[in-house]
Amino acid sequence: MGVVSRLAPSPTGLVHLGHARTFLVAWLSARSQRGRVLLRHEDLDQERSRDSYAVDCERDLRWLGLDWDGPPSKQSEHAGLFSAAALKLTQAGATYPCVCTRAEVRAAIAAPHTGDSGDIYPGTCKGLFESIEEAKSRTGRDPALRYSVDEVEVEIFDALTGAHKLSPFTDFGDFPITSRDGHAAYHLAVVVDDAHQGVTEVVRGDDLLTSSGPQALLQDALGLQRPNWLHVPLVLDHDAKRLAKRSDSVSLALLRDSGVDPRELVAWLAKGLGLGDFGAISPQELISYFSPGALSREPLQLPADLLGALSS
Ligand code: GLU
Repeated sequence: MGVVSRLAPSPTGLVHLGHARTFLVAWLSARSQRGRVLLRHEDLDQERSRDSYAVDCERDLRWLGLDWDGPPSKQSEHAGLFSAAALKLTQAGATYPCVCTRAEVRAAIAAPHTGDSGDIYPGTCKGLFESIEEAKSRTGRDPALRYSVDEVEVEIFDALTGAHKLSPFTDFGDFPITSRDGHAAYHLAVVVDDAHQGVTEVVRGDDLLTSSGPQALLQDALGLQRPNWLHVPLVLDHDAKRLAKRSDSVSLALLRDSGVDPRELVAWLAKGLGLGDFGAISPQELISYFSPGALSREPLQLPADLLGALSS
């Protein structure tokens, strides 16, 4: 079976250099194996997602020189698939209803990047209710569903950094698979979508490495094949912090409007990734130089004068 990779942006802000670096690796990895690339807008967080950001994202990725196969998909259109998976896990006795605060459960819809706030759920509602209906009638609240996590280690393999022993119980506790307003939460949506779309390779930022723990648990419980994971070290701001979505100053849109040549940007990203020192180059021209073994394991710290570095 051929390789299928995906670009999975959340349309909650402009695409920035951090995304560009990860998406370039995902794209190069797939294309260097003659694989397919899918574009999936992860728009489950309805308060923060905007269709206009999805449109901007497609424009910015094309500007960078990336393409994808078939029409882009939207996670919000796959609610039926997520509910079916949640039901399957519930029927297997692997979940429990939780009526804890909306804010707490809402936070679970967004991908939990390292450094984001988010406490480990203490298991308050575990064992309290026999069913979703009982939770609702006893408390008057719509419950979320949490996945019961055993205190076990999960071993996953990363194409860049090798084997990792993850502890989803310590990292996440009983994580939500649906929120109290009925939407699928991040881990469930990613796992179900990846399987449904035939994704074989998940390339994403290494702040989501620990998320592979809960996701592997769900894949095993749902009888789904685990993908090959590759977690790319992040781009850090010049103060060594993770780039946030609001880092518009390093958005592709702003770089383009500042006159940056996308092929210079690709060359600069390729150098930071350890793929070599090139003059202006397109992603297409870079394919034959790509090898996961050559990738740098270090984060990329932005220079103070980014525009200067990109116009050399
Ligand atoms: N949509 C997520 C994000 O933008 C990425 C999820 C993933 O690749 O698993 O943070």
